[in-house]
Amino acid sequence: MEKRLDVIDLFLKLLATKSVTPDDGGLLSYIENYLEDFEATWINEGGVKNLWLTKKFGEGKHLCFAGHVDVVPAGEGWDTNPFVPVIKDGYIYARGTQDMKSGVAAFVQAVRDMDDDFSGRLSLLLTSDEEGDGTYGTQIVLKHLKEINLLPDYCIIAEPTCEVEMGDAIKIGRRGSINGYLTLKGKQGHAAYPEKAINPIHDIATVLSQIAGHNLDDGDENFAPSKLVITDIRSGMEVTNVTPNSLKMMFNVRNSTKTTQESLKSFMEEKLFGLDYELELQQGSYPFITNRNSYIVNELTAAIEEEIGIKTKLSTAGGTSDGRHIAPYGIEVVEFGVINDRIHGLNERTSIKEVESLYNIFVNMIERF
Ligand SMILES: [Zn+2]
Repeated sequence: MEKRLDVIDLFLKLLATKSVTPDDGGLLSYIENYLEDFEATWINEGGVKNLWLTKKFGEGKHLCFAGHVDVVPAGEGWDTNPFVPVIKDGYIYARGTQDMKSGVAAFVQAVRDMDDDFSGRLSLLLTSDEEGDGTYGTQIVLKHLKEINLLPDYCIIAEPTCEVEMGDAIKIGRRGSINGYLTLKGKQGHAAYPEKAINPIHDIATVLSQIAGHNLDDGDENFAPSKLVITDIRSGMEVTNVTPNSLKMMFNVRNSTKTTQESLKSFMEEKLFGLDYELELQQGSYPFITNRNSYIVNELTAAIEEEIGIKTKLSTAGGTSDGRHIAPYGIEVVEFGVINDRIHGLNERTSIKEVESLYNIFVNMIERF
């Protein structure tokens, strides 16, 4: 019972500290002191603080827990102060309860409570810039670890992954994200003389039905199909007697490993053939996948079942995460944390029971190494 109280106390401490990206609110120093027998390295750049804590127990594998202490701004309309955690009916309300101070509290406490019976190296990668653009966050730390030849074998990111009940989903990969910006050029004219103008709205009209919501691949066992989603179209002057000179369209593709920026470019070029346009594509993040049968996936699945009796689902749904910076180094990455139904929203909350379960599962994972 004592240990369970500790994880909740730590959780409340993290929540009561305002740490809006990229400000860590002093939390990283707090954690450094909390795990004082771990070797600490600060990797600070561009106004962002990152903390790497590591301890070698033996010659076995290197396991790393990763997470961010920063949160998104609270926004207006909360029932309670978002930086003063409130406990009500078994839930704790505060910004960051789900995303992801619960995860950080659970693994920090699990590491603090462990004995020295660990076969390899155990590390914690903590950043204060995940919710921002992340330029100086996790990827800076990974670069450093590569340089000093200390990349982990396995990484557990404690982002909230559960959907309906605690333990129902872990993430073994994420889709990538490609943003598209299209400018279609025409020739402005009078609505009464369409033959004298080039109307970009009419031009895009014939293309739209072929691209809007189009699946660029069929997906596979890990990924849903990569769908082209149009997010904005604008043109014209809000009048009925002038046809516009140009049209702008934005779109996004959450891509699986089967669709690339190049294949998307070819697809669009084919559909826009014959039109006067400019197309810009920006890959915000690349997709990654950890093998479904890898050691870390098997062990985490087993730990969840042992602690809470749930058969977990292996998912790649949702947005991007820092896993995209970790996986390219050949590190097997999984993500697991509490239910994520209120992340970035108002009255964000998580149940005490979920945090205790998460803590128990992380203790169980550490015991497996
Ligand atoms: Zn997060």
